[in-house]
Amino acid sequence: MAFIADYLKNVKPSAVSVVTALASDLERQGRDIIRLSAGEPDFCTPDHIKRACTRALDEGKTKYPPAIGIHELREAICQKLKKDNELNYEIDQIIVSTGAKQVLFNAFAATINPGDEVILPCPYWMSYPNMVRFNLGIPVDVPTTVQNGFKMTAEALESKITQRTKWLVLNSPGNPSGAVYSKSELEAIADVLRRYPQVHILSDDIYEYMVYEDTQFVSLGQVAPDLSSRLLIVNGFSKAYAMTGWRLGYGAGPVELVKTMFKIQSQSTSGANTMTQWAGVTALKDDHAFVAKNNEIFQARRDLVVSRLNAIEGLYCEKPEGAFYCYISCEGVIGKTTPQGDVIHNDADFVKYLLNETGVAVVHGEPFGLSPFFRISFATSSKILEEACKRIAQACENLN
Ligand code: PLP
Repeated sequence: MAFIADYLKNVKPSAVSVVTALASDLERQGRDIIRLSAGEPDFCTPDHIKRACTRALDEGKTKYPPAIGIHELREAICQKLKKDNELNYEIDQIIVSTGAKQVLFNAFAATINPGDEVILPCPYWMSYPNMVRFNLGIPVDVPTTVQNGFKMTAEALESKITQRTKWLVLNSPGNPSGAVYSKSELEAIADVLRRYPQVHILSDDIYEYMVYEDTQFVSLGQVAPDLSSRLLIVNGFSKAYAMTGWRLGYGAGPVELVKTMFKIQSQSTSGANTMTQWAGVTALKDDHAFVAKNNEIFQARRDLVVSRLNAIEGLYCEKPEGAFYCYISCEGVIGKTTPQGDVIHNDADFVKYLLNETGVAVVHGEPFGLSPFFRISFATSSKILEEACKRIAQACENLN
């Protein structure tokens, strides 16, 4: 009898962890590696948030939290949703978890019956299809194009809906494309959803604050309040608050769903740790000036990377409107040969070549559901980004 469960054969480890492990191996061999693979701001968590955590420790707030999250944080989340998104949520509609990732996982675990379908516009954050498979659901891809700004049209959505469709996952600003859906695009999507009451909407808003120039974040909840009984909002502290290591996220949705997610959480992790949650209260309630300052820096880095990469023959980089990633087409280098005589057949071959040849670690498009592309994170200094682009340009020039 096999020890490992059969169904896990369909679940893949995160491609980012795989690239990170390869990069670490090369670093141990003495290679100079530039990591543009992880989705992690290089900024440190703001001091006032760190101080809120140490204050909680000093005050002895070190006991088990309520598994659904501390009351004060859930209340602060309701206030945030009201203030930023004009959405009215009651405290019993809020759950706090160890990162947005656990919220998403709990939501799928709470709702998917074997064979249920989950619609994923691609490119998507690579954990979505794996979490769906983990819960015996079927991910249904909706490919988008660079020409459409990597956004799913209402018609494309409708063509994928069946009686088995349980969820549509919307992620705007999106990882890995940085695409941001406008109000009118969301309205068109909402019009389709109104016709299919079996479809629930999971709106992953984790990059909400990271939008550039005139781009506005609009929440589906705001555009279509009549769909609120079918909507789960997922958000977290990792990105805009630079709190990746704290593991704190939350969900806001229908009471029955939140109760079921709580049941899962109470029998698994027992929720997010207590002092992190107190830091989360401060993050939501206190000064947000650092977000705008960080965004200015991110925008300058984005502009640098987009201009450098678009100057390289064989690559094309659409300017992202939000988040901190570029999703770059490498169609123009497919079929070329490396100086070692290897043919680049696909985006996986290309990123392997980049890592080995130049020490630049990026993630290939296949796990994001749309090839031939690769993702870089520009959440690192301009100096490092400049050097990385130089190395990528040289590597492309060396192809025949
Ligand atoms: N959703 C998206 C789109 C992400 O890119 C990420 C992290 O990369 C997450 C959710 C998970 O965030 P957290 O760190 O809160 O678990």
